[in-house]
Amino acid sequence: MKAEADLEPVRQRLARDQERIADGTVADPRQLESLIAEVDHLQKRISDLEDSELEIMEKLETATARANELTGKADQSRAEVKRLTGERDAKVTAINSEAAERKTERSTLQPDLPADLITLYERIRGGHGGVGAAELRNRRCTGCQLEINAAELREFAAAPADEVLRCEECSRILVRTEHSGL
Ligand SMILES: [Zn+2]
Repeated sequence: MKAEADLEPVRQRLARDQERIADGTVADPRQLESLIAEVDHLQKRISDLEDSELEIMEKLETATARANELTGKADQSRAEVKRLTGERDAKVTAINSEAAERKTERSTLQPDLPADLITLYERIRGGHGGVGAAELRNRRCTGCQLEINAAELREFAAAPADEVLRCEECSRILVRTEHSGL
């Protein structure tokens, strides 16, 4: 550490000066006086260096604690990302397998449906975000969410079960159920 390295020669010089004062080899009073003054000065210098060493150690401690805290947070974030990625992957897998199921279901049903109805359905589906048919529920087209007007509802109610009904607003095929409100 810088402060510690600075301290060592100062301490050595202080010890040397104190020794010279103590052993009585300095006979000249003026030289002795200047040595004593130097001892004072060196003691002050050592005290300052020790203070700054202490200050540096405190800063280091604070910085180490902060670094540990940040490392902990980074670990937490990584764990969270891992958890969310796992969840997302599981959802994607579930969606893919459901889509595959629906596709199988669809290809099983397709041969039983009239070809012209499938053609109509595919044509509407292409222009309507992939949804070619919608349930008529509570007198409302669930494709465009608009309510069917009374006159049309009367027509729908009178239409035979195998007639293909269309929404006047979005032109999707309307599927009648017991909840249609007819
Ligand atoms: Zn509609």
